[in-house]
Amino acid sequence: MADFLPYGAQWIEDDDVAAVVECLRSDYLTTGPRVGEFERTVADAVGARHGIACSSGTAGLHAAAHVLDLAPDDEVVVPAVTFLATANCIHYCGARVVFCDVDPESGLMRPEDLERVLTARTRAVFPVHLTGRPVDLDRLASMACEAEVRIVEDAAHALGARLGEHRIGDGHHSVMSVFSFHPVKHVTTGEGGLVTTSDDELAHRLRRFVSHGMEREPAHLERESEGPWYYEQQELGFNYRLTDIQCALGLSQMAKLERFVTRRRQLAARYDDLLADVPHVRPVA
Ligand SMILES: *Cc1c(COP(=O)(O)O)cnc(C)c1O
Repeated sequence: MADFLPYGAQWIEDDDVAAVVECLRSDYLTTGPRVGEFERTVADAVGARHGIACSSGTAGLHAAAHVLDLAPDDEVVVPAVTFLATANCIHYCGARVVFCDVDPESGLMRPEDLERVLTARTRAVFPVHLTGRPVDLDRLASMACEAEVRIVEDAAHALGARLGEHRIGDGHHSVMSVFSFHPVKHVTTGEGGLVTTSDDELAHRLRRFVSHGMEREPAHLERESEGPWYYEQQELGFNYRLTDIQCALGLSQMAKLERFVTRRRQLAARYDDLLADVPHVRPVA
């Protein structure tokens, strides 16, 4: 299969390998200093107040859907063209998935597409920045705001993307954005994800959900703390934590984000070029 083009390929260099080896020789393999550092690095890169790392983009979408407190009759709109995780995360929470059409030229959800499926039960919409091209969030956000619908961006393809003067993930148009670090995405941690938000309360809830629903912060405890080991399980969460080993790789990869995005653009232009004369093939608008 040597001549078969892979669906995606990671870009791992010697310093990435060295960063992982250094972590393996350190005191922490998981929930150590690299997790917080990685969260800060990604949040800063996209201009968000908080970054919550988790074990995959799918886990991040699940956490984001969970903290919306959806009821069984609530409807959440997702684009008909996306990876299956965007819709699955709504099902995990027992709410209703409503598929929405997309622009046939770009594959992106448009405000007029959303308008057609909005009902009195719509609670949220999960636009997807397919192939890293940002959805027109300005118009979508004003429509969602009017309908009291919250926006969660599936930004799995959009690390490093911009919409006007805003970076995708900065929380300007939405309550949360979800990134993925699967090897086909811009930077990788093997498996991994991260949710950005600028809402302190949502950040706190996301953090609790991805670690079993365990609460340790004194201000949020229901009983008096009995010591530094003390915690309460305040809701049902999951073990969706990202490890220090993965964050070591992620930190090393994040330093190369700009270079990776530039290279992706070059490759996309090359495909457009080489496919230009093929009948029935049109580049994405
Ligand atoms: C990759 C991807 C996800 C899920 O990310 P994982 O890290 O693989 O769980 C979600 N949505 C979209 C659009 C994706 O491409």
